[in-house]
Amino acid sequence: MAGFTVVIAGAGLGGLALAQGLLRAGIDCTVYERDAALDSRRQGYRLHLDGTAENALHRTLPPRLADLFHATSGTPRPRFTLLDHELRELLTKESDDIAYAVDRLTLRRILLSGIEDSVVFGTGVGGYDTGQDGRLVVRLGDGATISADVLVAADGINSVVRQQYLPQARVAESGVWQVYGAVPLTAETRKLFDESMFGIFTAISGPEGTFVGVAPVEFPADTGLRDYMTCSFGARSEWFDNRAGSVRDLGGTQLHDLVTTAVRTWHPRLREIVAHSDPDSLFALPLRTSVPIPAWSTTRVTLLGDAIHAMSPASGSGACTALRDAAHLTDALVQAAHGRDLREALGEYEREMIDYGFAAVRAGAENGTRFLGQDPLPASV
Ligand SMILES: Cc1cc2nc3c(=O)[nH]c(=O)nc-3n(C[C@H](O)[C@H](O)[C@H](O)COP(=O)(O)OP(=O)(O)OC[C@H]3O[C@@H](n4cnc5c(N)ncnc54)[C@H](O)[C@@H]3O)c2cc1C
Repeated sequence: MAGFTVVIAGAGLGGLALAQGLLRAGIDCTVYERDAALDSRRQGYRLHLDGTAENALHRTLPPRLADLFHATSGTPRPRFTLLDHELRELLTKESDDIAYAVDRLTLRRILLSGIEDSVVFGTGVGGYDTGQDGRLVVRLGDGATISADVLVAADGINSVVRQQYLPQARVAESGVWQVYGAVPLTAETRKLFDESMFGIFTAISGPEGTFVGVAPVEFPADTGLRDYMTCSFGARSEWFDNRAGSVRDLGGTQLHDLVTTAVRTWHPRLREIVAHSDPDSLFALPLRTSVPIPAWSTTRVTLLGDAIHAMSPASGSGACTALRDAAHLTDALVQAAHGRDLREALGEYEREMIDYGFAAVRAGAENGTRFLGQDPLPASV
């Protein structure tokens, strides 16, 4: 065992991948997750993962779990398509990177596998204090405290650790909301989708800045898992305000009514696709983005993933970047376990992570402004 202990706030994609990497290397770590279970909350269905994410999973997971990732991942055609609401092609772009379409809950179950004893569910991290000896005292949601040498904020876009540690780091509304849902892929519903819609992502642009996005999750044979197509609908918040008041408060059936009404003049097949969304699967989320900040001085508190660089889904790389962080941070802490100065190792991780993480935030915001009508990224502090 290394001579230090790591506490990770959050059992999302990044926190669990980091825990896998650290425990595999014999580094003592515990993850505290605020939710009671992996499936307590709806967080979306399909994730598009790229070669960077695949590489990160291979670096953090034991081979058995890396194999399981491949055995449960779909491989969509490597293509992005933009259509108009009459299904006329406006743009198509081939991707030269490898692409996986994975189910988020399936991936999180894989990431949790074998490390269950090191993940405490139903206990969030509330903050931390720095003791006189430089060690951290982490405050847990249940009132208890634990000491740690390193605290990793992997607690997502609303990170309480980031709010304490880097209060200057802001999360901005993008002005766009999306309603997420899924259409089960059956012999009947498959006929609604063109072959081109089985690419990485198909965006369909409608009137008044509205848009629909579809993307397949097709599990390899013999997983016993059911294929589906994610189907999302987005528009500016004013569009929702004018029709639905607070979209945040709407249940699945109301969201289904709202979206089917919104596409009533679109191509008949699109209307059918939207109508086949399972009302129980629907939920609405505002698109938000981190605002990049200049580098800060490294301490024993560090961050990964959405806790520091949440980004517009228009770049489709938030999860990929969180997994990349997890692999880099694993390497840094393994080096520290082998004698490298801990702060130096964390400093190097943070310099790289700030660079590629905020570059992805900027790219996501640019794509989001261009394709989804989101507000431009506010100026950095
Ligand atoms: C609908 C949707 C679709 C997306 N599609 C893609 C995609 O196709 N490709 C892609 O790369 N990215 C995608 N993203 C973005 C991606 O989901 C995120 O970037 C990714 O989940 C970030 O991982 P993370 O580990 O940093 O945070 P999360 O996965 O959000 O995990 C954070 C965890 O911390 C927990 N937590 C929160 N507060 C506390 C606390 N105080 N104490 C302890 N635990 C806490 C949360 O419950 C959660 O489990 C999508 C996002 C959404 C919403």
